[in-house]
Amino acid sequence: MTAINAADAGTGEIPDLDFDAIVIGAGMSGMYQLYRLREMGLRVRVLESGTQVGGTWYWNRYPGARFDSESYSYGFSFSQELLDEWDWNEHFSGQPEIERYCNLVADKFDLRRDIQFSARVASAVYDDDGGFWTVSLADGTQYRARFMITAIGLLSAPTMPRFEGINDFQGPWCHTGLWPKEGIDYAGKRVAVIGTGASGVQAIQEISKTAGQLTVFQRRPNWCTPLHNRPITKDEMAEIRAGYPELFQLCRETAACFIHTVDPRGTFEVTEEERTAFWEELYAGQGFGIWQGNFRDMLVDREANRLMSDFVADKIRQRVNDPKVADMLIPKDHGFGTRRVPQETRYYEVYNQPNVKLVSMLEEPIERITPTGVRTSAQDYEFDVIVYATGFDAVTGSFDRIDIRGTGGQRLKDKWAGGPQTFVGVMVDGFPNMFMIMGPHAALGNNPRSIEYNVEWVRDLISHMTQRGLPFTEATPESVAEWNAFVHQKAEGLLSNEIDSWMTGINLNVEGKQTRTVVRYSGTAPEYRAKCDEVAADGYQALRFL
Ligand code: NAP
Repeated sequence: MTAINAADAGTGEIPDLDFDAIVIGAGMSGMYQLYRLREMGLRVRVLESGTQVGGTWYWNRYPGARFDSESYSYGFSFSQELLDEWDWNEHFSGQPEIERYCNLVADKFDLRRDIQFSARVASAVYDDDGGFWTVSLADGTQYRARFMITAIGLLSAPTMPRFEGINDFQGPWCHTGLWPKEGIDYAGKRVAVIGTGASGVQAIQEISKTAGQLTVFQRRPNWCTPLHNRPITKDEMAEIRAGYPELFQLCRETAACFIHTVDPRGTFEVTEEERTAFWEELYAGQGFGIWQGNFRDMLVDREANRLMSDFVADKIRQRVNDPKVADMLIPKDHGFGTRRVPQETRYYEVYNQPNVKLVSMLEEPIERITPTGVRTSAQDYEFDVIVYATGFDAVTGSFDRIDIRGTGGQRLKDKWAGGPQTFVGVMVDGFPNMFMIMGPHAALGNNPRSIEYNVEWVRDLISHMTQRGLPFTEATPESVAEWNAFVHQKAEGLLSNEIDSWMTGINLNVEGKQTRTVVRYSGTAPEYRAKCDEVAADGYQALRFL
């Protein structure tokens, strides 16, 4: 297959373009999209703001960062050679190992030659007359390409709290998602961690091991459950490798591509003893089993969810010595699993250590950051290091940070002001030849599984276009409206949609993100793929080809 260029497009008026496709981001999505497009003979440039590949796993190098999904279910599945070559060291590998994996992928498939590092994309503007995208970097460099593919992640726009005085602090401070490569020396020091989501929980566990004094500032607690990580022995790895086909098949069948399968029983279809025994088993089990493999009604039935929450609350009480601290750690505003469940390793026991103090920002809000620490409504705290584990402007935030303009100069940010609207999470009407990998309203969960699917779907669509000499495609407003209605319908009845979290589009640190919206597709991944497969099988009739 030959490369698409201006001449092939057959318009005659289109100037020579720099590339057939620009991919923004060299995380797992961007790397795989590059691999697949290059395989088709396209001239591709990946623009990456970091200095290396890995995306999420490049930026989130905070202490304790690791997989919450089983390592072997999270790697790429497309290359047998890669599967044969790479051994995972832990059931839930840490960031350094994951970063090594990403680098191996880049080397093995010689991806780096088409990746431009330290290239922060500032804008991407569609040229109506020429029919191409002009992608501009922060340093003013511009590239023009037929296709523009975003591979910018769901959780990649870190957000800081709007506290006064953040820049006044004299010691080292940083956001977990922007942790410096050289690290921060916190051993023996007085450290504050603000935020207790999945990142905060991982960071707290690790920092507490060596910090002189760790003070955790918690606004709303989360329901955290044991990860039960352990090393993978050589024999285990051999078994895992032999079982890869079945494992990836299982991931294709489960609701969110994890290896855990929802239990078909209802919470009240079993006796109390059976229920407790099942939950004990899940609590003693690995990873997201307790969230993704629980009774089928746990996330929709209020009473079932309340019982499960009580079960986990009891575990917290058993693990934390001080009943007042235990009570502070038990969520009161949401039930188990209705926000993303942080996975922990002796997280609750950290609060039994003499060098760790928990401060509830609900009782004692932070008033400002001072040159020497944190001032709450109750007192001044002195710190040497402040860690902000305050999360991300999720799902649409990474799009909002790029000035993306489609036909007629319309801004994507404006179009999505009332919540994102997409076709299968991949396309937007009015934004021709723009494709999103893991865009809003695409299936998520165990993300690499969805990434591989999305990338291949985009590859097939571009291939369809090249084979037929179709230069442009975009989603129709009707197909977007239909997908949007479907996504909203799938969200109905889920307890998680009644809760403020990044999964419902809330980020109190970001202007305009204070109202709950459906930013997440919450149907099952198999259903998502069936819909997307149908579009392709139908000759992409849901799309407009220009
Ligand atoms: P998060 O879940 O959004 O948590 C942010 C934390 O910061 C919350 O405790 C939040 O409190 C607090 N916070 C934010 N702004 C604040 C403010 N102005 N004042 C006081 N507290 C504030 O973010 P995250 O922990 O980075 O995790 C985000 C997502 O990334 C996770 O849900 C997960 O999907 C992903 N992640 C994955 C892994 C993994 O797979 N290994 C690890 C880490 C993260 P409130 O709850 O009160 O808002």
